[in-house]
Amino acid sequence: MSETTRLFYEDAYLAEFEAEVVETRQHEGRPAVVLDRTAFYPESGGQPWDTGTLGGAAVLEVLDLDGTILHVLDRGIEGGRVRGRIDWPARFDRMQQHTGQHVLSQAFWEILKGETRSFHLGPGVSTLEIGLPSASDADLDKVEDRANAVVWEDRAVKTYYVPEERIGEVPLRRPPKKSGLLRVVEVDGFDYSACGGTHVRRTGEIGAVKVVGAEKIRGNLRFDFLCGRRALGDFRVKDRAVRKLGGAFSCAAAGVAVQVEKQGAEHKALKKRARKLEERLAGFEAGEIIRAARGRIIAAVLEDRTPDEARFLALNIIRGGEFAVAYGAPGEGQGHLIVARSESIKADLRQIVPAVAAVLPVKGGGGPSLVELVTPETGRLREAVEAAAAWLEANA
Ligand SMILES: [Zn+2]
Repeated sequence: MSETTRLFYEDAYLAEFEAEVVETRQHEGRPAVVLDRTAFYPESGGQPWDTGTLGGAAVLEVLDLDGTILHVLDRGIEGGRVRGRIDWPARFDRMQQHTGQHVLSQAFWEILKGETRSFHLGPGVSTLEIGLPSASDADLDKVEDRANAVVWEDRAVKTYYVPEERIGEVPLRRPPKKSGLLRVVEVDGFDYSACGGTHVRRTGEIGAVKVVGAEKIRGNLRFDFLCGRRALGDFRVKDRAVRKLGGAFSCAAAGVAVQVEKQGAEHKALKKRARKLEERLAGFEAGEIIRAARGRIIAAVLEDRTPDEARFLALNIIRGGEFAVAYGAPGEGQGHLIVARSESIKADLRQIVPAVAAVLPVKGGGGPSLVELVTPETGRLREAVEAAAAWLEANA
């Protein structure tokens, strides 16, 4: 098979081109073509393939098969001369991310002596694994400041070829993975990489470089970062969110996190206090229910209580005298049945489960003195309570 001429090596800004179809074939059930030359970048070196159109068909995937570039299409095309158009905004976005990665990698090396272990250009964030056990916020600020200074200096990004035996004369950041004639991408006087990707002409086109996440992985640090338009998009979303929060808390952006933490602590304290008050109230309520009770068995559907509240009330009642309680309470998407008895009543409440299950579908269980069942049939909670009450009348 013939080597495809890679137009993106001569001109990464070429978005439209003409080429000759040299072969048509199938690739995993889809039509595919080989051209004599192409501007479509195949998946390689952490950079995804280009999409676009070829002879009117959509280009779904671009693969490098030992030097031959295969374009996988959504439908078959005629042979002969064809026109290709790559999705330029998507390509330029990748050129921003990829060139930004070269700059960021060198900044990590220069400032922290952190080596780049791997790079992945993702659809959202891109990731860079750096051989560092840890990095402080201040360290990261320095790295970002250095990377962005290089962006604003608008340095030229040059590409040239160096034979393998002379590559020692180039101060490469990482040793080359390939052999033969090596393609060097130089961010003028700052970074030298052996790379086959597509890059912007000048660092100014990267726009900005921003680290937006960090996590430990394999003893290294993996950073999420954004360049160019992606960095702007991220800033826009975060700016809106923070301004909204700042408005809600009447504070500046930098104070939002403190306010959220403060409210969280207050919320926790209030929940604790509410719980205490509920407990006290349940004590009083249980006393009233006991005074009004006409027998040992108390059964009701508590429409305005949560299952937790109903259980708590039942436990207060059985501690206040000799009682058996069957309470129904609506839960989220299901009805709850809580059955509890005082210690002095010896019935095994687990036996109530088949009695209730004979009336309506229920799941759950418990111990001899407390059983909790749930039913998906929320409208039939009263029947469940009545079945439980009948069992208690007969057995407790
Ligand atoms: Zn590169």
